[in-house]
Amino acid sequence: MSRTPLAVANWKMNTDLESSRTLAQAARDTLADDPVDLEVAICPPFPWIVPVAEVLDGSPVELGAQDCSPERDGAFTGDVSAAMLAPWCRYVLVGHSERRHGHGETDAVVRRKLEATLAEGMQPILCVGELEAERTSGQTAQVVERQILAALDGLPESGIARCVIAYEPVWAIGSGRTATAADAQEVAAHVRALLTALAPLHADAMRILYGGSVKAANVAELTAGGDVDGALVGSASLDGAGFRALCLALAASGNR
Ligand code: PEP
Repeated sequence: MSRTPLAVANWKMNTDLESSRTLAQAARDTLADDPVDLEVAICPPFPWIVPVAEVLDGSPVELGAQDCSPERDGAFTGDVSAAMLAPWCRYVLVGHSERRHGHGETDAVVRRKLEATLAEGMQPILCVGELEAERTSGQTAQVVERQILAALDGLPESGIARCVIAYEPVWAIGSGRTATAADAQEVAAHVRALLTALAPLHADAMRILYGGSVKAANVAELTAGGDVDGALVGSASLDGAGFRALCLALAASGNR
């Protein structure tokens, strides 16, 4: 099965209005210059979603949100519902480690956010991954399995099919350290086996990303395993030229 590689930029709480527009234009130019077999999505901070959408209008670069509320509407000061994002976004990150571990989001909350995203016709990018202590004590597979099953078990297969999974070891995010390519592939293969059990007809076509200190220089290696279909990129997505180089390296790698 050939899956289109996917590079997702997560700007986190970085950029200002001007730099968000400049970065979006750079991503747009990357796909415009030289049509490549690659999908690119940008997840800006909430206030820049609309200005970035204006820059991307008519371009194949997709928009995503970094989070959404599990609630549909109501008295939830400061929250943003999936319904509010749906006019602009194709993707929503759910269960990013900075939400799970920085904001105490449980597996149950992540599940509700994923369901809210699907209900509004968008595609969740479900982030899973182990803490460093969990890796060193040999619990990586168990943690990833728990997070995947909590989010997806019992959903209609058509809903599962719309998800992207991002394997992001927590200790590799923003640290400059990465998993080895072999470890990334091992976890991705395990994720695909879980997806096969949950949605047998769709698992083969679903994208599994690796995230954690990915940059242009290591993206080809980290996605070389047959089950890693692209990257979720934080720091390296904040440099227009660097993210362009990363996208082109992913497209040129021939990793499918
Ligand atoms: C991320 O935010 O999901 C991420 C992987 O960040 P970084 O690339 O900076 O490690």
